[in-house]
Amino acid sequence: MFERQFIDSLDFANNNRELRGEIAMAEMPRLQDKLVVLDVGFEHDRKEEINYSLRGFRDRNGKPMLEVKLDGLCQLRCQRCLQGLIYPLKLVSQLLLVQNWDESSVVEEDEIDSILVDNHLDVLALFEEEILLNLPFAPRHPVGVCRPVKEGYVVEEIDRIDKNPFAILSELKYK
Ligand SMILES: [Zn+2]
Repeated sequence: MFERQFIDSLDFANNNRELRGEIAMAEMPRLQDKLVVLDVGFEHDRKEEINYSLRGFRDRNGKPMLEVKLDGLCQLRCQRCLQGLIYPLKLVSQLLLVQNWDESSVVEEDEIDSILVDNHLDVLALFEEEILLNLPFAPRHPVGVCRPVKEGYVVEEIDRIDKNPFAILSELKYK
């Protein structure tokens, strides 16, 4: 069980602190409707755990930064066949710590996201947020990989119809 950790983000950056560990996807409630509960199809020895590291530092301009790195596997729901889809999560994001939002708009590097300085930053919630921002909106298996749903017919039929609508039409006609 991941122990809920809080950091003083500015202090964390100023002192080049670092946290590392593993966290289970199951511990992030906001992600649950995006994920498929582990079941067959996912190897048993592979848990849905994410390795994380959180590093604080000052960038070359002396600005306080946090770097979040997350690496692991999660299982999403394919939007085509609704079955589980193993998705490798690998994200690195650097966040500028700002005192207020006005400050963030002055930053030239608009590639970098900002978060407000927080002396009680919820690390788990931060990871959750980063994962949410990085998961694909409508994940799908590569074409041809989708497994049919249990009552299989519908998906297979739709695929077949997509491929050759006229063949299906003529089949119907002569039945
Ligand atoms: Zn699929």
